[in-house]
Amino acid sequence: MDYLRIRTNFERHGFTTRLFSTKEAACDYLDDLLQNQTIGFGGSETLREMGLFEVLQRKNAVIWHNKVPSLAVRKLANCADIYITGANAVTETGEIVNIDGTGNRVAMTAFGPQTCYYVVGKNKITASIGDAYARCKNVAAPLNARRVGAKTPCAAKGGRCHDCDSPGRICRIISIIERVPLGMKCEIVFVDQELGF
Ligand code: SF4
Repeated sequence: MDYLRIRTNFERHGFTTRLFSTKEAACDYLDDLLQNQTIGFGGSETLREMGLFEVLQRKNAVIWHNKVPSLAVRKLANCADIYITGANAVTETGEIVNIDGTGNRVAMTAFGPQTCYYVVGKNKITASIGDAYARCKNVAAPLNARRVGAKTPCAAKGGRCHDCDSPGRICRIISIIERVPLGMKCEIVFVDQELGF
């Protein structure tokens, strides 16, 4: 993975970037960085696999609907000044692509927090926005649909998107972050391991 080129492209787009070899090292970095903060988490297998909630909640107030699934918790998380999330896909050229069902993550990565951190495993890196979109639809969304037990064709039929009209469709809002939103700081925490979907 050519992280130098990838990080350069993200930094050209206004992001700061970090690179860690392991999820434990990334966890330690965020643990050292964040203290006495209110932090919202986006829904993320990456964050779950890292155990980041458990680490950060020792010194911060961390709000995560994956721990307490409710709309109220999602709304509370979306008032935090610091937001941490994964990404469904990023590009080597320096963009982030996410698909949401409820839109809480897409909303917070576009507007709201002072600082947004994305934790990104190497399996999320794609060549282009087209490839990122395809990854979202044919890898991330089907696995997420299966995880949440959604009654969608992608969850039932071998994992590819069928562009369904199912009531359980989890793909409802798609965002492409091309540059850091005005007024926000954004950091990409790359981890050179496979993490999440
Ligand atoms: S549009 Fe429907 S079939 Fe396609 S990935 Fe989303 S939920 Fe699955």
